[in-house]
Amino acid sequence: MAGKLLSVIVPSFNEAENVKLFYEELAKELQYSPYDYEVIYVDDGSSDTTLLELKELADMHYNVQYVSFTRNFGKEAAILAGFQHAKGDCAVVIDADLQHPVALLHELLAGFEEGYDQVIARRNRKGESLPRKVLSTMYYKIINRFIDVRIQNGVGDFRLLSRRAIDALLILSEGNRFSKGLFSWIGFEQKTVYYDNVCRQNGESKWSFGKLINYGIDGVVSFNTKPLRVCLYAGFIVLFLSLAYILYTFVEVLVRGVITPGYFTLITAILFLGGVQLVSLGVIGEYIGRIYNETKRRPHYLVKDTNIEARKRYEKNMEA
Ligand code: UDP
Ligand code: MG
Repeated sequence: MAGKLLSVIVPSFNEAENVKLFYEELAKELQYSPYDYEVIYVDDGSSDTTLLELKELADMHYNVQYVSFTRNFGKEAAILAGFQHAKGDCAVVIDADLQHPVALLHELLAGFEEGYDQVIARRNRKGESLPRKVLSTMYYKIINRFIDVRIQNGVGDFRLLSRRAIDALLILSEGNRFSKGLFSWIGFEQKTVYYDNVCRQNGESKWSFGKLINYGIDGVVSFNTKPLRVCLYAGFIVLFLSLAYILYTFVEVLVRGVITPGYFTLITAILFLGGVQLVSLGVIGEYIGRIYNETKRRPHYLVKDTNIEARKRYEKNMEA
């Protein structure tokens, strides 16, 4: 009987030094595994020689597939492309930079065998810089207060999904994809396995500080409308305070006659209200922007080059 098929999805953006290395490590790890596996590299519009390396790799190994984007569409789009092309009974999303230990695949597969639909790899933050550690801890505290699905610190995209879970994920068609939230939203039986944080060997992290902040905002805004509610509350509070102040000034005028109100009060009121209004407008703008983007119904990515079609033809010919 043919073994079950595992699809390994590898988003790769400027990972020329890593793609072959990754395949070697993976092959070493899975050589005695009862699972067949296919590796789906998604070249996310790399500007280095990643695609070239992938083509060479695919020429050498039958189970290597690649999908190459026309430009950098982001890791979320790359993950989606991977799931869309995966044929496996289960699929694992894993980084190309070897920061996700391939040895953990056995544990993920064991969880799958036990019947879990999502097996999640959770890392500690060993070896990370202190500011990043503190910031991410704070981020998860805040975000979990804000959004309706649960997101854990140290849990990233490194995980295994069963065929059922993949199909569920593919039904969610939103353009602005926040995987961490989507994974949590689909539910299913979940198991968590733990591993030690590994520092990157080759190349640089693609996450600048600015990108991380944007990612953080996406996390909150993609999953609910609570920030709009916060604006509403802030509006109410300011309104209540100003009513109280108006009343106070009015009574003062009645009792003591008109006195010139202070410059300080005036300027604070203007600046404070202006600030509150701008923030609220910004929050509303975020949502409207999202509606605008969703209504355009653009594809999540465009493919420049892939060997998947060619492989399908080849397999058909073999069968015939
Ligand atoms: N990645 C991607 N598109 C991007 C940024 C990153 O496909 O726009 C890939 C990258 O090649 C790597 C994984 O996503 O395989 C994680 O990226 P990185 O190592 O830069 O993130 P970090 O490990 O620092 O969180
Ligand atoms: Mg990394």
